[in-house]
Amino acid sequence: MAKTTPALAEEIGKRTDGLIALRRDFHRHPELSHKESRTAEIIAERLHAAKLEVRTGVGGTGVVGVLHGERPGRTIAWRADIDALPLTELLEASFSSGTPGVMHACGHDGHTAIAITMADIMAARRAELAGTAVFVFQPAEEVLGGARPMIDAGALDNPHVEEIYGLHLTTLQRVGQVQVRPGPSMASADAFSVEIRGKGGHGAMPHLSVDPITVAANVLLGMQSLISREVAAQDTAVLTVGQIVSGTKGNIIPETALMTGTIRAFKEGVRDHLVSRMGAFVADIARAYRAEASMRLDYSCPAVVNPAKETEFVSRCLAEDLGGDAVTEGGLVMASDDMSLFLRERPGCYFRVGIGPDAGSPRPHHAPEFVMNEAGLPVGVRTGLGVMLAALGR
Ligand SMILES: [Zn+2]
Ligand SMILES: [Zn+2]
Repeated sequence: MAKTTPALAEEIGKRTDGLIALRRDFHRHPELSHKESRTAEIIAERLHAAKLEVRTGVGGTGVVGVLHGERPGRTIAWRADIDALPLTELLEASFSSGTPGVMHACGHDGHTAIAITMADIMAARRAELAGTAVFVFQPAEEVLGGARPMIDAGALDNPHVEEIYGLHLTTLQRVGQVQVRPGPSMASADAFSVEIRGKGGHGAMPHLSVDPITVAANVLLGMQSLISREVAAQDTAVLTVGQIVSGTKGNIIPETALMTGTIRAFKEGVRDHLVSRMGAFVADIARAYRAEASMRLDYSCPAVVNPAKETEFVSRCLAEDLGGDAVTEGGLVMASDDMSLFLRERPGCYFRVGIGPDAGSPRPHHAPEFVMNEAGLPVGVRTGLGVMLAALGR
């Protein structure tokens, strides 16, 4: 692709007010994972209005819009996630969350508005459009639970998608900056729970009991050595226990202790090692203290890995359009995203687009004071269109 044509730039300019208004509407009405019914309804309405073929209820509240160009070409998908988070917004604005305890604090309101605007613009240019664009609006990214049901429901089939692309907005980059990282880009996530079964009794006579809290303490400390002693120093992984539940009173030894946590890694081998070692490790430590323990994986999502060829293509595309200085690789992100599951099904690339503040320090995603610089939204549309149009006609 060459630079965004003046005609395309004009189309984006014409729609920027609408793009921001749409994002603000989603922001005002955030919906939690798997419950995005209003959001899905608006998406479907807008896609219908642009005369796309629309499938709703795809793997839950997912929506798929198919746009056939009038020229021959390939079939390429664009994925946008649509859900919000269980947070109470601190920002006071006319479009602040109107739903107590729910907030778009990750930018998915922006992702949704960008993808709808892209579909609008591409539909208006259908006569010159090559191939078929498939817009995949995915629910429940925040619980890493939306991509799998959409894939199973055939979101990438009929028509058969050849490649899939998408973006995540980031406050850590200034407006106009994009990050396109080949290889591992975001971590895998495996949520686990460990149940330790001891034997309850009087706190004054622990020798007559098997104390599961002491076992939990040793499991907790011991499991960090899986990272420091069993993962190569040049690789990285994180193992966090975020919750321990046990006991009712200070002088009673309880029967059980429950620990829940998360394992993050970038390499499949590291992830597999930790996930498979944890079960035996936990059971062996418990046995040393006369208790029993078992580990259960609660959910899993692989690392986002951008394949070299498609990532190089996106990087070139965006550098030609925005200028070489605007495109960097960016660092590894320890957070996870189930875009990874789509990228396991089809090649493609997941890149990052800046929505950072013009001045001052950026607010973190997933924080109640999260705020996006909306000047980054048209950049999102421009990068998305650039990638899609180039990929369709490639
Ligand atoms: Zn998020
Ligand atoms: Zn997100």
